[in-house]
Amino acid sequence: MAPLATSCVWYSTLTGTLRSPIETAGSELHGIQNPGFRVPPLIMGHEFVGHTSDGRRVAVDPLVSCGECDLCATGHTQLCRSRQLLGAHLAGGFAERVSVPESSVHNLPDDLDWDRAALIEPVANAVHAWALAGEPRGKRIGIIGCGPIGLACLEVARYNGAASVACADLSGERRAVAVGIDADHVGDALEGEFDVIFDAVGTGGTRRASVERLIPGGTTIWLGLSNADAGFDAAHAVRMEKNIRGSFAYTDAQFVEAITMAPHLDLSWSTTYPLTEGAEVFNQLMAGGTTTIKALLRP
Ligand SMILES: [Zn+2]
Repeated sequence: MAPLATSCVWYSTLTGTLRSPIETAGSELHGIQNPGFRVPPLIMGHEFVGHTSDGRRVAVDPLVSCGECDLCATGHTQLCRSRQLLGAHLAGGFAERVSVPESSVHNLPDDLDWDRAALIEPVANAVHAWALAGEPRGKRIGIIGCGPIGLACLEVARYNGAASVACADLSGERRAVAVGIDADHVGDALEGEFDVIFDAVGTGGTRRASVERLIPGGTTIWLGLSNADAGFDAAHAVRMEKNIRGSFAYTDAQFVEAITMAPHLDLSWSTTYPLTEGAEVFNQLMAGGTTTIKALLRP
């Protein structure tokens, strides 16, 4: 793959955390607290947009697949066994310039401003989850967690004609944001019965709730990765024929679909800071001393 030199304005995003059981521990914040495969010295940042050296406004698909294996050949690029992530295995976007494969770069629509374009990556996650749920147009949707992934799921469900969308989060500020982008019902937890539930948190408790609150035969899509606990009653899932699917990232085609969809979405729930304040923003988010849902860093 030929590297593409890039320059000028780069936006990268951080995910805010709240000190509560419903918490979206942003990938980069998690990378500092528990490095795992993000081995220092590494420039993190897997969600970014910017200018190429020839002046195009672009979004970068951070998932780099081999393009040759059985899974890539059938379009399942997100499942490539040798997949790599910009900002984790390769240098990422928390910088003034970054070099990425040319195949990862996609032009942005003219009517999509930088702040909203920087949220294309979470939208792509939601596009993928919606597809795994069988494109449930006209169905009752429940969403657990109103961080960036949960809010992106809400926006994608609304755009695609869900009959109703209920959102659960322990944070009143985040519930208010969900109401602002058209959630029909919000609360500390989901109440009632749903055809499809998206768990954007990923603890034993939220996974249990995502199975219990389903209609018999319903489908829950697990996107959250807070911890590894399953937490649900497997016998109940068998007797009620409940479907449980993991959802990771998106295909290359779904990333492009998210770019096309983004101008039609709200995507107003981010806060922008200068890149020079990046370290301070990281510390604030890790200390839980901010209600920021998504922090954008602008060089
Ligand atoms: Zn592959």
